[in-house]
Amino acid sequence: MQIRCFKCQMPIALGRDVVAEALEMVKKENLTRYDVRCPKCRTTNRVSKKQLTRMAPRISPDKKK
Ligand SMILES: [Zn+2]
Repeated sequence: MQIRCFKCQMPIALGRDVVAEALEMVKKENLTRYDVRCPKCRTTNRVSKKQLTRMAPRISPDKKK
């Protein structure tokens, strides 16, 4: 998953583990978004739960059902 910093336009790559972890945290703590800090300008970029969820199935298909 890749997002772009809204401030400096720096592409920020989020690894599979990061996305999976972020989604876990968001679900666990019932958040609506996950904050990703830009490595370049340190601006906090918000990734919505919706975005994470959209990425997640490709990473870890829900086999629990
Ligand atoms: Zn930035």
